Amino acid sequence: MPGPEGGAQATTLRSSDSVHDAAMTGSSSERAWFSPARCHIDLAAIAGNFARLGPAHRLMPVIKSDAYGHGLVRVARTLSAVGAASFAVGQAQEGLALRRVGLGQQIVTLLPTLDAESLDACRSQDIVLAVGDAAQLERCAAHGDVSHPLAIALQCETGMGRLGFGPQDVPQLVERLRSLPGLKPVLALSHLACADMPEEDDFSAAQARTFAAMCQGLRSAFPGMKRSLANSAGLIQGLGQECEWHRPGLSLYGGNPLAAAEGKPGKKRQVDGLRWAMSVCAPIVAVRRLEAGQSVSYGRTYTARREMTLAVVGVGYASGLARGLSNRSQMLVNGRRAPQVGRVCMGLTMLDVSDVGPVVAGDTAWILGGPVGAADKPVTAQELADILGTIPYEILCLFGGMVERTWQS
Ligand SMILES: *Cc1c(COP(=O)(O)O)cnc(C)c1O
Repeated sequence: MPGPEGGAQATTLRSSDSVHDAAMTGSSSERAWFSPARCHIDLAAIAGNFARLGPAHRLMPVIKSDAYGHGLVRVARTLSAVGAASFAVGQAQEGLALRRVGLGQQIVTLLPTLDAESLDACRSQDIVLAVGDAAQLERCAAHGDVSHPLAIALQCETGMGRLGFGPQDVPQLVERLRSLPGLKPVLALSHLACADMPEEDDFSAAQARTFAAMCQGLRSAFPGMKRSLANSAGLIQGLGQECEWHRPGLSLYGGNPLAAAEGKPGKKRQVDGLRWAMSVCAPIVAVRRLEAGQSVSYGRTYTARREMTLAVVGVGYASGLARGLSNRSQMLVNGRRAPQVGRVCMGLTMLDVSDVGPVVAGDTAWILGGPVGAADKPVTAQELADILGTIPYEILCLFGGMVERTWQS
């Protein structure tokens, strides 16, 4: 197995580098960006959040889905430089991309791998494959080899109702594994369904108990197996503390999964000092005066009640700014909050900038984050998620996937 890369490589990141991760997109030259919006990724914030979440040797950062839109390879290199010893990815392709850039950490896939080519590649690259049912076990067994066993992570179903063996499957699973020396079970993992909901504490505790019992059965047969239960919310709440690995995702990127639970009863611990790593801005492309009575954008959902100054911003729903935010959100201009007015269009969005001081075309509007005046707060992914009735994960994935990114270390 190759060793983790040295820290030197991680310091070669350039803030001016706006090239999409080639490992994720293939040929970035074929993609013409259609929006002037920019997604800025603060890699130092991710490294700082990682350090706040616990000792590096217990954390398996979850960098699936292009690291929640923050860039798979950039994030992995950043975390490697601050001591990450393991990564959780979605599919095998993501793990293979990390190997191609020389990262030697333990890599665990969370999605089932079906095709023969990927199964073989994972074996040769020492990528740990998730196995959650008998069919997947046999699929892996067909690609294992006694002289070079295929490492697997056994998914335990404890209440998520998605992937994994149930408690009743353990005896048979152990028996089958004993007859398959080409497979090497290195990890047992389970996933919490509602660790972010204090009112569901009993359910989470039951999941933890079920997992512990399953681990006991599995580890008495395979003592080398490690355990992993907690996502960000579980980790913050102290669930699965006996496990060797925790799997934070959202909190690495600055989100607090317990934000929605604030003010509700139930035990809640917090991690202080998490910083959002993603900010998104777009240029104001035009500024105009609006008379009282003039309407703005499709459907005439907004009408000026007074004479006002309107800024037209070069971002829209094709760049991840959900149309459901129409007339309900704000952006920062000149460090102050300007209300968004009228329907969000595909590539344009309008702001009422009457009260934020002088504004000219070429000025910047901040959709997420950005420099802020004393009286205002930056807009967060949590705020947009709350307006839309969704979760910050979705906001980050959308902007990260749809807007040209730059990284700063
Ligand atoms: C996405 C995911 C995580 C990370 O969850 P967060 O809530 O982002 O911390 C952990 N484990 C599994 C199996 C996941 O799919």
